[in-house]
Parts: sequence; C-alpha cells; structure tokens
Amino acid sequence: MLDTSKHKGLRKRLVEELIKKGIDSKMVLNAILNIPRHFFIDNDFESHAYIDKAFPIDSNQTISQPYTVAFQTSVLEIEKNDKVLEIGTGSGYQTAVLVKLSSNVYTIERQHVLYRKSMKRLNMLGYSPKLIKYGDGYLGLPEHAPFDKILVTAGASEIPKKLLLQLKIGGKIIIPVGDMNQEMILINRKSETKFEKKKLGKFNFVPMLKKVN
Ligand code: SAH
Repeated sequence: MLDTSKHKGLRKRLVEELIKKGIDSKMVLNAILNIPRHFFIDNDFESHAYIDKAFPIDSNQTISQPYTVAFQTSVLEIEKNDKVLEIGTGSGYQTAVLVKLSSNVYTIERQHVLYRKSMKRLNMLGYSPKLIKYGDGYLGLPEHAPFDKILVTAGASEIPKKLLLQLKIGGKIIIPVGDMNQEMILINRKSETKFEKKKLGKFNFVPMLKKVN
C-alpha cells in the first residue's frame, strides 16, 4: 500500500471541501488530512476514497462519509485524555480519526469479518485503539465505563439506555436515531439523572442491529 503525493493532494482537496461544508475543528481536519482513507477501502475502489461519500465495505456495511465522520467527531470536542467509545468499527477509518485525537479509544463491531479485518488493518497502520471488541454495541462496555465521549456510527431505532448510563457526568454521546433517515442527536449528561438533548439534522446510516451474528 502506498500513500503517494497524488493521494495527499486529493486529501487536501477533501479537507477544503469539508471546510466549505462547515467543519472548523483544526484537530479533526488535521486528522483527515493525514490519514490515508484509501487504506480503508478495498484496492480496486481506491479512486472513491477522497470523494465525500459513504462507500460499501464487507458484510453489507459502509465506510461513513468523510463529512459525517468530521461532523460527529467535531461535535464531541475530544480532548487528548478523553476515554472514547465508538460503536461500529466498520472499516476502522473513524476509529483511526479518534485515535489521532485521543490515546484512550475503545471500539465495538458486531460483524466478525469486519472486526477481524479492521483489527489487522488498524494495528498494521499504527492506529491502535486500546480495545477492539467483537460484540453488540447496544450493551456498551460496562467493564471499561464510564466514558467521556461515545460516538455511534450506525442508526439506532431508539437511544440505548445502557450507553447513556456509561457516560461520565459532563460526558457526551453523538448518535443517529431513527429507522431510515436518522436524526443526529447529541446528548450531554448533566447529572446522574439529567440528560440534555440537541437535534443536529438529518443523516443516512446503516442500521444498528442487535446481538452478534
Ligand atoms: N465507523 C465505520 C462505520 C461503519 S457503518 C466506518 O467509518 O467505516 C456502521 C457499522 O456499525 C457497521 O460496521 C456495522 O456492522 C456496525 N454495527 C451495526 N450494529 C452494531 C451493533 N449493535 N454493535 C456494534 N456494531 C454495530
């Protein structure tokens, strides 16, 4: 696998496009500028890597659109020591972006093929999170909770209570909710029992499914 000056040029253009679309987090833009997204897509489709679109990966899933990755990551305002949980490792691209921002990233994937492939890929590329788990993201990771930030990359039909309860007070979760066209929801845990909710617009995700296969 090569990361050529052509790839770097395409990434620069992608970053400019994301800035035009309203992304302004320097840290997030810098991660996107530096991570070779074409390493997360099968070789034959490399030319699609720097177009701002979702793209099919194995097991009928998709690598999220760069804008969506940038948007979800930006609103979480991740800091270096934040403990971050991602639901839906998929290709591992969003995981790599998180690993650039925090040294404390955990991720869960329910498709075994993707879990294995992304674990290998992330370790090979040196974007290793603390843990990649094969399992059901609806359950979260109680043994590693609480988290400062939780990022869900599949559309959930409702907000999973277990995930809310695995947030620190002051922690945030970003999650697309709904069956087809999801509403992006940002929730901030204000106290043991108080959760503040904001709607951030419509997005399209593959569905979050229960249990592992
Ligand atoms: N972050 C990924 C997005 C992949 S799409 C990327 O950019 O490549 C969403 C992913 O969520 C898929 O890989 C899907 O298999 C996974 N997923 C769906 N339901 C899940 C669940 N209950 N627990 C964990 N992962 C889930």
